[in-house]
Amino acid sequence: MLEVLSVTKTYRQRGRTITALDDVSLTIPDGALYGIAGRSGAGKSTLFRILTALQRPDSGKVVIDGDDLFSLSRRALRERRRKIGIVFQQFNLLHGRTAAQNIEFPLELAGVPAEQRRQRVGDLLDLVGLADRADNYPSQLSGGQKQRVGIARALASEPSVLLSDEATSALDGETTKQILDLLSQVNRELGVSVVIITHELDILRRHASHVAAFDGGRLVEDGPVLSLITDPASRIGHDLLPRFTSAPSHGIRRALVTLRGEEHAAGFLADYGKDADYRVLSGAVYDVVGEHLARYELDLPDEAAVAALDSRSSDAITVEYA
Ligand code: ADP
Repeated sequence: MLEVLSVTKTYRQRGRTITALDDVSLTIPDGALYGIAGRSGAGKSTLFRILTALQRPDSGKVVIDGDDLFSLSRRALRERRRKIGIVFQQFNLLHGRTAAQNIEFPLELAGVPAEQRRQRVGDLLDLVGLADRADNYPSQLSGGQKQRVGIARALASEPSVLLSDEATSALDGETTKQILDLLSQVNRELGVSVVIITHELDILRRHASHVAAFDGGRLVEDGPVLSLITDPASRIGHDLLPRFTSAPSHGIRRALVTLRGEEHAAGFLADYGKDADYRVLSGAVYDVVGEHLARYELDLPDEAAVAALDSRSSDAITVEYA
């Protein structure tokens, strides 16, 4: 588990004090894919540098698997950082080493025996889909492939958490999506917690288990994605999954129905149509945290339609009214 406790960080610039993080507390559960969202200047990169112990906060704590990072000795902190996987945006690969040798590097530093190293590097190359590129040098790889090597290298020391700042990524949109898909695969298959800073809300909607939204150095909202998108008061939930539209309606109520799971979504409208003469104002099926989620905005003509809809509401079928 990774905990941020009352972290504050300020910068001094030309006599002014800039509060980049203002009393931020959050918990990243084991195995989470935790997305950090927010506009430019929100404090995301500062948080990233503090979580990766590249920078100290003015006050507050970061506790990873029980270790309070900033109260460790310099030496202990150096050791501890080996267990924090960082995916660097500039890749930071060693140019004189092949892909395989780059991945092997942290294992050499940690004194892992050669045979074990070879085995592990082979597994990691397979995992990131670069088995056929093992002997290529960084100059022979595309940006996306270099990033895959970077991810494999970050995983070599079996970190409990992997952090990636995609918001500052030098990669194009399509490659960034592929990298985020890979991070999500790593999260699922290896159970490693992943923290991603990104502007790509559709990626967070598809893959993230939790999202934290920052604004002006403050944590404004955080929680499981499914809770946020079904909470009418959540702004980030609204950004992740659109809610009511401005489509004109003529009935007595406007309802937003969210259906979790394919078995509920598939026959819902047809079944409801037996009881009510509704109109669909908007509707779409989304991938949310690996499951299908359908959302329909319905125009209801009369009280009977409202009652019929209410009677269908359950854990898997959420009904809200405008
Ligand atoms: P984000 O990653 O969300 O864009 P940052 O963490 O980079 O946000 O920045 C948060 C605030 O702190 C911004 O107002 C930014 O200008 C300021 N800031 C960040 N780094 C420094 C620095 N090294 N010196 C002065 N101000 C900084």
